[in-house]
Amino acid sequence: MLNKTGVPTLEEIKSRFPKKGLLIKHKAITECYEEIPCNPCATSCPFNAIHIGEDINTPPKVDFNNCVGCGICVYSCPGLAIFTVEEHSDHLRFKIPFEFVPYPKQGETWHGVNRNGDIITNVDILKVSITEKYDKTALIEVKVDKEFIHDFVTIRRIT
Ligand code: SF4
Ligand code: SF4
Repeated sequence: MLNKTGVPTLEEIKSRFPKKGLLIKHKAITECYEEIPCNPCATSCPFNAIHIGEDINTPPKVDFNNCVGCGICVYSCPGLAIFTVEEHSDHLRFKIPFEFVPYPKQGETWHGVNRNGDIITNVDILKVSITEKYDKTALIEVKVDKEFIHDFVTIRRIT
């Protein structure tokens, strides 16, 4: 599926999520399935929570016990292949990378989009974070309905 369409299967997506119960705090989800020579996610993590090993082509693996959901790896991934997710009783919070300007603003409602580029829902923009170090990538925190945990991946402005 990934090789033909660029879209991972549900099984591949689920394989990147932690076991149930660990998402009470934000955890990093690495959607990096191919063997590519890349490692900024691992070298940028201050908590030693992303492991690639000696072969730089090995896809990254998150140690969810070490991950504190800080989002630094989300900024540092050149492929925009990482987000974080946190589960609340009646919604999810995602922190996603976003590089299109103008950025959304806190309090706005945007479309939620899946990995095929389809609009699947509307989401609330909770926070927009921009740092000096990673000034080309904003970290957008969004509130998403729980049913879209394995579908939601990015946002699109409502026009
Ligand atoms: S979210 Fe923070 S702690 Fe978790 S893997 Fe990324 S950089 Fe490390
Ligand atoms: S930085 Fe991004 S693209 Fe590179 S290995 Fe890590 S997750 Fe994959």
